[in-house]
Amino acid sequence: MIKHIYLDNAATTPVDEVVLNEMLPFFTDVYANPASQYYLGRQASEAVENARKRVADVLGCAPTEVYFTSSGTEANNWAIRGVAFANKDKGNHIITTKVEHHSVLNVCKQLQKEGFEVTYLDVDSDGQICLKQLKDAIKDTTILVSIMAANNEVGTLYPIKEIGKVIAKANKDAKRSEPSHKIYFHTDAVQAIGAVKICVKECHIDLLSLSAHKINGPKGCGALVVRNGVRVGKLIYGGAQERNKRAGTHNMAGIVGLGKAIELAEANREKNAKDIAKNRDYLIQQIRQHIPYTRLNGCAKERLPNNVSFCFYFIEGEGMLIHMDLLGIYCSTGSACASGSLAASHVLVAMGVPIELAHGSIRFTLSKKTTKEELDITVEKLKGIVEKLRAISPLYTKEARARLNDKC
Ligand code: PLP
Repeated sequence: MIKHIYLDNAATTPVDEVVLNEMLPFFTDVYANPASQYYLGRQASEAVENARKRVADVLGCAPTEVYFTSSGTEANNWAIRGVAFANKDKGNHIITTKVEHHSVLNVCKQLQKEGFEVTYLDVDSDGQICLKQLKDAIKDTTILVSIMAANNEVGTLYPIKEIGKVIAKANKDAKRSEPSHKIYFHTDAVQAIGAVKICVKECHIDLLSLSAHKINGPKGCGALVVRNGVRVGKLIYGGAQERNKRAGTHNMAGIVGLGKAIELAEANREKNAKDIAKNRDYLIQQIRQHIPYTRLNGCAKERLPNNVSFCFYFIEGEGMLIHMDLLGIYCSTGSACASGSLAASHVLVAMGVPIELAHGSIRFTLSKKTTKEELDITVEKLKGIVEKLRAISPLYTKEARARLNDKC
């Protein structure tokens, strides 16, 4: 008997039992502050350094380049604001894309109010950027390029190795040497970690953000990798924690959980990605086979192994979501609720999806625990819901269907 079907793993994931068991002693037994000098404090401090090494080992950097934060959101804020203000004597130009997470986009919008210039790169209908557009956008005043490794809504993977090469070449050509005037490369890898291999050195990444709760770790803990020599200011002021760069008493259990979660995610990455991608492709095929008038969002090939995002013509994602919820199937829409009014997803709009169609989007994100049986139930229920909603939709006319018949 299936109680509910959880297909919203891009929103968050449950904590793995192995991770939880490593975390538990840090609530009740090893509860000392890792900054304390006595034995219990030293034990806590050792656990923090062990977690730091685990993160560094996965990402191919030195442990001293890993800084723990409260979330992926904080890591993104710190990377972008930290680089912007520490390098504003060199330039005020930042390049990002139109499809970043709001924890990047809203920081950039705020920086524009504070005197920085931001170029938002366009994407194509798959949500992919164009490397030539990136090259052309770089100018003498550019100090930072922030491009995500994987899109959280439509699953498109970005060519971060190629992006890193473009930036490294631009630095070389302009004879920009660290730290006098280097364009830094930041990537938001919150959705990519655990799904694709990222080595910061190989990809010329200067800063990388990640979050524990997307990889079966706890909520409220993330990390920012800052390569040695990168000029980055502070976001949070206070004590001397994290080598005097990020103040605040360490979230001990969270950090230990993040360390274990990323180690496990990497150890099982290839197998999990392969297995999950099989289920992803099955779900895509089943939706296409059983439900007419749909559009798969995101790149078909360069795609997160767990992401299935569709637009359903003639109906709204919110309506579908409510019905799915009542049946115990948990997924999400591509649209965000902004100040009481439903705004279409900025990602889909940037991809050129018409607004009314963008409102009809649903995202399913699978996990290693997702079964074929769950996917069959999901498609069967979804088919019924779509039929029911279309039957009462004023947009579902014979003429509108005829217009679409060539496309779908
Ligand atoms: N970046 C991306 C791509 C995300 O998907 C998310 C969360 O959904 C974040 C950043 C923010 O991470 P956190 O929830 O840890 O603040």
